[in-house]
Amino acid sequence: MQSSSHETDVAIIGAGPVGLFAIFECGMLRMRTHVVDALDTVGGQCAALYPEKPIFDIPAYPKIDAAALVDRLAEQAAPFKPVYHLGQQVERLEASGDGFWRLTTNAGTEITAKAVIVAAGVGAFGPNRPPLAGIEAFEGKSVLYYVKQREALRGKRVVIAGGGDSAVDWALLLADIAARVMVVHRRPKFRAAPENAERLRQLAEAGAIDLVVPFQLAGLEGNGDRLSAVLVDNLDGTRRRLDADMLLPFFGLAMNLGPIAAWGLDLDRSHVTVEQATCATSRAGIFAIGDIATYPGKLKLILSGFSEAAMAAHAIHPIVHPGEVLHFEYSTTRGVP
Ligand SMILES: Cc1cc2nc3c(=O)[nH]c(=O)nc-3n(C[C@H](O)[C@H](O)[C@H](O)COP(=O)(O)OP(=O)(O)OC[C@H]3O[C@@H](n4cnc5c(N)ncnc54)[C@H](O)[C@@H]3O)c2cc1C
Repeated sequence: MQSSSHETDVAIIGAGPVGLFAIFECGMLRMRTHVVDALDTVGGQCAALYPEKPIFDIPAYPKIDAAALVDRLAEQAAPFKPVYHLGQQVERLEASGDGFWRLTTNAGTEITAKAVIVAAGVGAFGPNRPPLAGIEAFEGKSVLYYVKQREALRGKRVVIAGGGDSAVDWALLLADIAARVMVVHRRPKFRAAPENAERLRQLAEAGAIDLVVPFQLAGLEGNGDRLSAVLVDNLDGTRRRLDADMLLPFFGLAMNLGPIAAWGLDLDRSHVTVEQATCATSRAGIFAIGDIATYPGKLKLILSGFSEAAMAAHAIHPIVHPGEVLHFEYSTTRGVP
């Protein structure tokens, strides 16, 4: 492990879409940034969970794939020369004297900054794993919690488990390329967007998708890391054996604040409470934006996070440039480097 020490104006924890936009907003106010993310790539949930899914509520993009949005955000941040420390989790955040903060990662990197923006999303996130004996052997090969490339499932017999948006969306997305799509859910009703749930019902009626309801996962069969069948039980104990190459369990995300919970910030049910106008947390000099931040009326959307990034950057400016009057300027006036 090679440790290193850095000093900067603003340390950003999390390189999800909101952390990336915070680089831009800080840069526009002449504040240098270092950005740390536990993942080995930028983009947060967009990159890790749904890169190929289109997003429809990013202003000025009627439709943009999550991966493309991340690319655009990184491009927009690039002129401000952020320093990325990827594949490292921030473990400690401590006052280092003179009003500075020092954060330390699990790779031994130390960053001292005048202010900190916590843009850590849902914290250290991971899938809720179904409690099936021996599932670890198949994970990453024939049991996938995230689908990075739809094409990887072409011609496969796919079992999708779950009843929410992810399960239904992926069933619809795979219906025309997988050899067979079987959707296992413990209730006949799906908790997905009504139009998608209706589309699922139509495809099932047309025989393009098999609805295996009300059933739940009971076991796996296979050899090494290759799955051959998924066993499912219904409520009265009747068992079915679904021949399958792949299992995609979509039971939501396990949200784990991880080390953030120990940083002395006021929390509300695993979120950091902030002052809405500034995104200031309960500790002076530490700000929180994006999914991790909460205040009355908070909408957990990327576009809310973008606005919070702008508000936090303006609130941080007097900390980084004390005594300097901040003249509010449009980007059209200021331009970018
Ligand atoms: C399937 C799906 C579809 C969605 N569709 C939409 C949509 O259509 N429109 C919309 O607006 N939103 C959508 N969302 C929600 C959207 O993705 C989130 O609101 C957004 O990703 C939040 O961005 P963020 O930057 O705050 O956090 P995240 O994207 O969660 O990024 C946070 C980053 O912080 C890192 N991190 C956490 N703790 C640490 C630590 N201690 N040290 C270092 N790094 C750390 C994580 O690794 C992560 O990369 C969707 C989400 C999902 C799962």
